[in-house]
Amino acid sequence: NRRIVLASRPHGKPVDDNFRLEKAPLPQAKDGQLLLRTVWLSLDPYMRGRMSDAPSYAAPVQIGEVMTGGAVSRVVESKSADFKAGDLVVGSTGWQDYSVADAKAVKKLEGAALKQPSLALGVLGMPGFTAFMGLLDIGEPKPGETLVVAAATGPVGSLVGQIGKIKGCRVVGIAGGEEKCRYAVEHFGFDECLDHRAPDLDKRLKAACPDGIDVYFENVGGAVFDAVLPLLNTKARIPVCGLVSQYNATGLKDGQDRLSLLTGTILKKRMRVQGFIIFDDYGHRYPEFAKQMSEWFEAGKIKFREDIVEGLESAPQAFFGLLEGKNFGKLVVRVGQD
Ligand code: NDP
Repeated sequence: NRRIVLASRPHGKPVDDNFRLEKAPLPQAKDGQLLLRTVWLSLDPYMRGRMSDAPSYAAPVQIGEVMTGGAVSRVVESKSADFKAGDLVVGSTGWQDYSVADAKAVKKLEGAALKQPSLALGVLGMPGFTAFMGLLDIGEPKPGETLVVAAATGPVGSLVGQIGKIKGCRVVGIAGGEEKCRYAVEHFGFDECLDHRAPDLDKRLKAACPDGIDVYFENVGGAVFDAVLPLLNTKARIPVCGLVSQYNATGLKDGQDRLSLLTGTILKKRMRVQGFIIFDDYGHRYPEFAKQMSEWFEAGKIKFREDIVEGLESAPQAFFGLLEGKNFGKLVVRVGQD
């Protein structure tokens, strides 16, 4: 059984030495537990937070502990009446070949995810749920409104854009590079998509949003938010989902303090700015998401893109790339066969 543990805490960008690949004996399942073989491991931006011991909404991974992560696994041995060997399940089982989990802590795959199990880590799982609740419950998009979202080809952003289109919005994406932008328009149906790495984002965003911005789904922060702020309309809604451009930052940037610009804008425009942590805030509404998303998905209304990396040992490098936009679609690692 191979597993990747946290070897040290990063300062700024994570590096190879922060992880260690270890061999360990196969774990044993007790009553009420399952022995699981990992098939697909999900890599997600929140994992950067777990590597750090700065105060957050979840406890950090301890040094020497297996890296935390969602995965789709095959049941090898079941000591629970609710599962049998061969079942596919999703749960937070970590960066390892085999794990033992309480039967209550995992969920059986169902519906479309049974045909393509990795989707239980993307559009049909946690990132999909995040896009759905953040946009619909906090963003409250209305027909004819303008919605802006960055990381537009990732699992959260691509779904925010597609749900925005279903709700009748003008959807403007922001992504890193021309190829991603073209893909967001042609494949995901965004009205426009702007490259945040090209100059004059503020001017191009203004041109793309002639009626201002009603909903800004915040995935990245930083320079993108700077371009968005002056374009926000009165009563704009900002679901604050993530700030991936800041996850490797070691402190605040030097420069002019613009906090009063932000709070002044919130006041004058009477905006709603609300952070959320998906399972903490919306766990009880998962069935609502599962039902609606599977309907849309079966009706062919939802497109997705995956970026597949081979082998558990490739997880650290792929994860570093995720924080810099090297992934193109939902990043998953194939750890075993479906
Ligand atoms: P993605 O697969 O979209 O990966 C992150 C993307 O962020 C990169 O591919 C890159 O896309 C973009 N990015 C990285 N650095 C920068 C930068 N400096 N400026 C602008 N964009 C940057 O990730 P997810 O879809 O899984 O997650 C999107 C966001 O949602 C993250 O912030 C994540 O933390 C958050 N999230 C929050 C949850 C919650 O409960 N609140 C739950 C799940 C996710 P590009 O190359 O296009 O710039």
